Amino acid sequence: MKCMDVVYTKEDKPREMCGLFGVFGVEYAASLIYQGLFSQQHRGQEGAGIVVSDGMKVHSLKGQGLVSDIFEADAWDRLPGYLGIGHVRYSTTGSTRIQNVQPLVVECVDGIWAVAHNGNLVNAARLRRMYQEAGAIFQTSTDSEVLVHLLADPMYRSRPRRVARALNEIQGSFSFLIMTKDALMAARDPLGFKPLSIGRLGEGYVVASETCALNQIGAKYLRDVEPGELVTIDKEGLHSHRFAERPRQHLAQCVFEMVYFARPDSLVFGKNVHLVRQQYGRCLAREHAVDADIVIAIPDSGNSAALGYSQESGIPLNYGFIRNHYVGRTFIMPEADARTRGVDMKLAVLPEVVRDQRVVVVDDSIVRGTTARRRVACLREAGAKEIHLRISCPPTANPCFFGIDFPSKEELIAGVHDVGGVCEYLGADSLGYLSVEGLLSPFDKPENFCTACFTGDYPVDISAMHGKESLETHTHESNE
Ligand code: SF4
Repeated sequence: MKCMDVVYTKEDKPREMCGLFGVFGVEYAASLIYQGLFSQQHRGQEGAGIVVSDGMKVHSLKGQGLVSDIFEADAWDRLPGYLGIGHVRYSTTGSTRIQNVQPLVVECVDGIWAVAHNGNLVNAARLRRMYQEAGAIFQTSTDSEVLVHLLADPMYRSRPRRVARALNEIQGSFSFLIMTKDALMAARDPLGFKPLSIGRLGEGYVVASETCALNQIGAKYLRDVEPGELVTIDKEGLHSHRFAERPRQHLAQCVFEMVYFARPDSLVFGKNVHLVRQQYGRCLAREHAVDADIVIAIPDSGNSAALGYSQESGIPLNYGFIRNHYVGRTFIMPEADARTRGVDMKLAVLPEVVRDQRVVVVDDSIVRGTTARRRVACLREAGAKEIHLRISCPPTANPCFFGIDFPSKEELIAGVHDVGGVCEYLGADSLGYLSVEGLLSPFDKPENFCTACFTGDYPVDISAMHGKESLETHTHESNE
């Protein structure tokens, strides 16, 4: 197969979820939220929004596309306030349309509420149907909107700890930022699927999905929001409250954050992502040693593991692919054709480095196999003598229902082929995946991680789950 002959219909990576950023007690909150979202752009590129409050009025701005395209230079004049929340989106439920861009902003009987969500609610369809049958109107096709209805429900509104009670009704994976005109709230689901960290900036507070966003604005990392914890920040300071009992079972922190999603400079679930990936590479070198001349990475997400593989094996690291940084992270683009076009432009092989070499190629994961196949073909065409693929996670054989847009089992190449079959499809000389033990080896409490996409062992009941557009029960096209 020739590099230029390959036709791609699907991207070879899971697509991401969302990034959250909240600020309390800092002047020009909107500008900080912009920077926080910008540094988490890798978590979603479909749309972004910012909602701020000056204590009296709430202002919002959102749009589709990249953060830098949505917010123009004069945006800050229209977004005055000392408190606010922001969101970058990749849709894991609901289609790509402006109504689905978050934060969602609603006016309830007691004022404005804004909600931003990262994750996937497994009981959203049931709750939505319940409210619709009672006459409620939904504006979006996202699962996140059910929380808005719970917050507005008189049954919860009249009770103390209303937000905590509403959070108790939803199941699945979630990190939420919730805002009123004078308070910021942050919550993580009881199993802790998604990361959410708190930082301090002067006298104010910031909350972000990833700590790289805290670093970006010069905030000091304070701690993570605990699984099952609701943190409220207002003029009185920071208050903590558990909305759910500590689970009897283990936590289910998403290990794929470590493998691929998070930025290497982030601290996620208490660990630096780069160092964890480097350790994966070392482990991979021990588990799948091979005689070779050079180690190369699939940039950028394979960089840290390739470094680890090289260090452990003693095989020199080199640049075999150069990434075009002006092409977006193609796998986040939701439309298949956009992904296809982007993939072709994203990486260029360096023939002068790989020609006549036995090459170890380190990548973070293989989902459908289409892109990996193309890269093997490119390396062959560039003259590589042998190609040994090493993947810094186990075979991805099962879909995710917790906020990552993995395809169905039938579309996952490891869902339908064993390792030998995958290797043959890719056209590599050998293929080695990291073991599940290796994947969990950097953690003191490996039982606190979800590994369902590798093992099929789902930490919550997924029987009610359907596809990402499962809440779009009626077709509605809008040209807004
Ligand atoms: S199934 Fe995989 S991607 Fe989904 S939450 Fe679990 S580890 Fe993360």
